[in-house]
Amino acid sequence: MSKTEQVYLSKSKYCNGITCPKTQWMAIHMPEEFDRSVLNEAILEQGSEVGDLAMGLFGDYVEVPFGNLSEMIKITQDLMEKRTPVIAEASFSYDGCFCSADILVRKAGNAVELYEVKSSTAVKEINFHDAAYQYWVLTKCGWNVKKVFLVHLNTQYERNGELDLKQLFTAEDVTKTAKKFAPDIEENIRHIREVASAKEEPYMPIGEYCFSPYDCGYYPWCSRNLPKPNVFDLGGMQLRKKVEYYDAGVVSFEDLLKQPKLGEAYRMQVEHVLHPGNDHIDREGIAAFLKEFQYPLYFLDFESFQPAIPVYDHTHPYQQIVFQYSLHIRKKPGGKLIHKEYLAMPGEDPRRSVAEHLCKDIPADGSVVVYNQTFEKTRLREMANLFPDLADGLLAIADHIVDLIVPFRKRMYYSAPMMGSYSIKKVLPALYPDDPELDYHSLDGVHNGAEASAAFTLMQDMDAEELQKNRENLLKYCGLDTLAMVKLFDRLEEAAKTE
Ligand code: SF4
Repeated sequence: MSKTEQVYLSKSKYCNGITCPKTQWMAIHMPEEFDRSVLNEAILEQGSEVGDLAMGLFGDYVEVPFGNLSEMIKITQDLMEKRTPVIAEASFSYDGCFCSADILVRKAGNAVELYEVKSSTAVKEINFHDAAYQYWVLTKCGWNVKKVFLVHLNTQYERNGELDLKQLFTAEDVTKTAKKFAPDIEENIRHIREVASAKEEPYMPIGEYCFSPYDCGYYPWCSRNLPKPNVFDLGGMQLRKKVEYYDAGVVSFEDLLKQPKLGEAYRMQVEHVLHPGNDHIDREGIAAFLKEFQYPLYFLDFESFQPAIPVYDHTHPYQQIVFQYSLHIRKKPGGKLIHKEYLAMPGEDPRRSVAEHLCKDIPADGSVVVYNQTFEKTRLREMANLFPDLADGLLAIADHIVDLIVPFRKRMYYSAPMMGSYSIKKVLPALYPDDPELDYHSLDGVHNGAEASAAFTLMQDMDAEELQKNRENLLKYCGLDTLAMVKLFDRLEEAAKTE
């Protein structure tokens, strides 16, 4: 057996190899270069929860326990011989190509139906390759694969009482596509193995596949020889456009600056990096924007979590559920700051208590200052729909919103460290680089929205001491988000006044 043939494949390795065969060379020869920060552990956790739940889609089933691959294959053979009607993680191997089918439904004779479960709400292109690979392996093993389905969550499903698995999941019949892709699989496998077993590091240019359908963990290694910063560091530009520039040899910021068609916002970003100097400040624009604010000012920020599987009634998969807010209040110009906050306890649906506290804390006067209004406005309207008795108060808050992101998004205020982004996590340190009070990195446990969401989810299973610590972390994090807005507002006021 040649070295090329020895490269063992699984469905995920095959899919990664289809996207970029170099991933498999890296996994064998330089696994230590993989940047794990691309993996979102919370999302992976949700994925396995969804997979476990989907196993029950066809009633009783037998699960092949995860472990040694030969044992998994042997257990599957035994279950197939016994004509077990539904098997979860049924495992097969052909010519060094292994797969575990999420759900296998036995039909007459040697016919089977294959169900591949995804925790997403729609099918992605790469999922077809996954389904086709499994179809191919099972067919090669002698099974008559009648149907292949991709199962994903149904966003239209709204929970009402017990979970209804038939409604929660949508099974899309992808048999035709799997059959269409199947004839190419042998050649794809040969190519992946050839690249994976190369003696020297194979050359692959940077391409869309480094970022889509997923960020590749080997990007720091593969991009090590690119100038820093480069076209892929440009904020706000579509990936397709960046790759077009890269393919045309326009890689460094110096190269970009020579491009006559480079958009104004990108040009500003590149100029500020190459020729560092003063921040760009449009005083008149900022002054006009500040006229929209009416005191008292309510600086408001929500934290939410998005369970893949709806945990409360009247929610659907991946619904944003607000569990916390922070509120800094300034009653008059230069007035002292008042801080209010609310963080629900885990267990019960937090939306009612959040809505009640909001109505109490924010009367219908002044301006409600948020950063990126779509999120807060949408959540307020959702809660107003859900609780008609609180609708007036919640809609009044939504109607008084002023969006602090505007002067940064419109580049009225631009500073080089923003690197084209107007996210508050980039804007704040750009405007207050050395202020430890405003440093998200100095926080304990929770440093961003994703971590806040994960922290709240984990609180369900914490003991009292852990729970208390976690609550403190969440409160500090969300409190910093609204303090950040106050500081940005102050800086805008200073900028508007400066001669
Ligand atoms: S970073 Fe890009 S080129 Fe490198 S292994 Fe990943 S997908 Fe392939």
